[in-house]
Amino acid sequence: MSAVQQICVLGATGSIGLSTLDVIARHPERYQAFALSGFSRIAELKVLCLRHRPAFAVTADEASARVLQEALQAAGLQTRVLSGEAGLCEVAGHPEVDAVMAAIVGAAGLQPTLAAVRAGKKVLLANKEALVMSGDLFIQAVRQSGATLLPIDSEHNAIFQCLPGDYARGLGAVGVRRILLTASGGPFRETPLAELERVTPEQACAHPNWSMGRKISVDSASMMNKGLELIEACWLFDARPAQVEVVVHPQSVIHSLVDYVDGSVLAQLGNPDMRTPIANALAWPQRIDSGVAPLDLFAVARLDFQRPDEARFPCLRLARQAAEAGGDVPAMLNAANEVAVAAFLERRIRFSEIAGIIEDVLQRLPAGAAEELPDVLAADARARECAHGWLSRHGR
Ligand code: NAD
Ligand code: MG
Repeated sequence: MSAVQQICVLGATGSIGLSTLDVIARHPERYQAFALSGFSRIAELKVLCLRHRPAFAVTADEASARVLQEALQAAGLQTRVLSGEAGLCEVAGHPEVDAVMAAIVGAAGLQPTLAAVRAGKKVLLANKEALVMSGDLFIQAVRQSGATLLPIDSEHNAIFQCLPGDYARGLGAVGVRRILLTASGGPFRETPLAELERVTPEQACAHPNWSMGRKISVDSASMMNKGLELIEACWLFDARPAQVEVVVHPQSVIHSLVDYVDGSVLAQLGNPDMRTPIANALAWPQRIDSGVAPLDLFAVARLDFQRPDEARFPCLRLARQAAEAGGDVPAMLNAANEVAVAAFLERRIRFSEIAGIIEDVLQRLPAGAAEELPDVLAADARARECAHGWLSRHGR
């Protein structure tokens, strides 16, 4: 590869966005940040623009775009500042972009990620919610445009690394028996069940192994994150839900495994640092330095494995049911979860009520098809409204 690759980082101010820019900055001869987006942290986005000098920046709305545009102009930068979903879709599909890091959190990332897919880009997918919501049409769009989809989620990147290059022929055809999706179990793996009622957002966001945004941290604590990842794995690797087994592995050193029919089980190991999957996907099929320290197996000393406890983590059961139901059910699961997690972070509900809200929404709303984008957006809207209904019925 000779020319410097132009990278669009959607969600640049977040945890994955910052790790991506850290890897990019280590290889200026290979990568240049072409576009950076932020939402609420405009001061941080400005600092990132000054450091990486992108051609484009994208903010939430016109007012914040004007403020940033003036600040960047005053600093002598040529960066053009766009705003809103239209701005995100424009940079994601821009003809000069080689790769798009899709690292916006939640359903807000769906349309920009799809814009990158439809433009046939190399899409580095961190925004699992986008794939969970729209799985079938997302994968069809990848096939139609010839986009290259590379997983950033550490588990899926691990599975990708443990599969043969021709896995798209089908898991059975390449001799895969099952996928073993590892989970740390989060901060509440051993918390007495009665205490789960009272845990705070701060406790939920204090993950033992990974440093992440607040939404995914709460998802990790409820294990909805693993549920969303189960659905993500089904779409990425064309697996049936029954072919994906969740294995609790508290050390987060093995990032997932692939079990083959001959009895071989391949695993990918590494320190829990997202720069490894990010560097892997950026440089694929080559390997580059990510800045991550070498794994010290003597310091790790032992690797433990447990079965997940679905009584403790009902979100995992709800997600598996949604994976099996298909259609627009995963989109409704995701939307109800986003509303519930936001309410928990605002201290309007208890941690243990997150699963109850999602279950209530899935019981109330009939399942439908998710063949076109409007089906997905309508299911998302219905589930959000229904979850807000739960909140108002319960006076929150
Ligand atoms: P984060 O909260 O740290 O960052 C989120 C980013 O999205 C920010 O740049 C924010 O400005 C932007 N954003 C938020 N709301 C937006 C909106 N409405 N419109 C446009 N932009 C918006 O989150 P994160 O931890 O970096 O996670 C990002 C995505 O990557 C999530 O989908 C998460 O599940 C996934 N992921 C994260 C990790 C991790 O280690 N952090 C690991 C695997 C997967
Ligand atoms: Mg993960």
